[in-house]
Amino acid sequence: MAALRLALFGHPVGHSRSPAIHAAFAAQTGVAVDYALIDVAPAGFPAAVAAFFAADGLGANVTLPHKQAALDLCATLGDAARRCGAVNTLVRAPDGALRGENTDGVGLLRDLAFEGVVVAGRRVAVLGAAGAARAVVDAVAGAGAADIVVADRDPARVAAMVHALRAAHPGAWIAGGPYAELADGGFDLVVNATSASLRGELPPLPAGVLARGGDACDLVYADAPTPFLEWATSMGATRAFDGWGMLVEQAAESFALWTGRRPDPAPLRRRR
Ligand code: NDP
Repeated sequence: MAALRLALFGHPVGHSRSPAIHAAFAAQTGVAVDYALIDVAPAGFPAAVAAFFAADGLGANVTLPHKQAALDLCATLGDAARRCGAVNTLVRAPDGALRGENTDGVGLLRDLAFEGVVVAGRRVAVLGAAGAARAVVDAVAGAGAADIVVADRDPARVAAMVHALRAAHPGAWIAGGPYAELADGGFDLVVNATSASLRGELPPLPAGVLARGGDACDLVYADAPTPFLEWATSMGATRAFDGWGMLVEQAAESFALWTGRRPDPAPLRRRR
């Protein structure tokens, strides 16, 4: 059987670990896949997606800066994609129409569960108010966090995000503002959904953000502890871990959507 055609659309994409992850899932499940990296600037994104699916593409991941633009290319949306206003997975239906899904949130929840982090009933701080942060807030709200406070340097960005996610989760307690609002919050879980760690930076965290013995997760993954994870450890975090597990888990979810086969992410967690 011919290999299933998959791809990642982004700009840039050269750094991506997704081809290696999906190759491992393919070997594990016995499903042959051909996972290509497609680097395309925003102006060319819709045409590149159309060309890929016209040439027998089955499914694709979408990363920065195309996750919002991908919404407009989809005939239908999964619930998480609709609530977050972002698509990270495109699936071609038998009739050729595209379905947009967002697997980032479920990937995070699976990773938190793997690490032994309980979300239900806990107080969660989310750093950042861009696309990844939306998926985080959507996921922890759906998982029953007691309250969620979002912080970002851009007041308009955080206000828009809180407004949208309150509407999507009417039963959840979601607030947001500048970083100073996290002071003395004593949060049980702090998720860094900023890209600060990519540049070796730490978001401007005030004192008292993390409860003693709380947990911390940085969505960025790296070979060495990020500045945020070093901060969390110095604050007495019980668990402090990066986004590698989330990356693997969201990829497993995408692979299952495309192929109907659910790979086991566990071996990938150890192979970095
Ligand atoms: P964006 O580039 O869209 O957003 C960047 C965010 O980081 C903004 O909220 C920005 O805040 C904030 N930021 C950047 N630098 C700093 C800083 N020094 N201090 C405080 N805030 C800062 O990225 P995404 O939302 O798409 O992704 C965020 C990160 O999550 C990326 O690094 C990405 O690699 C990672 N990610 C990991 C995944 C995984 O599976 N592990 C999945 C998805 C994303 P401001 O508005 O204040 O500028």
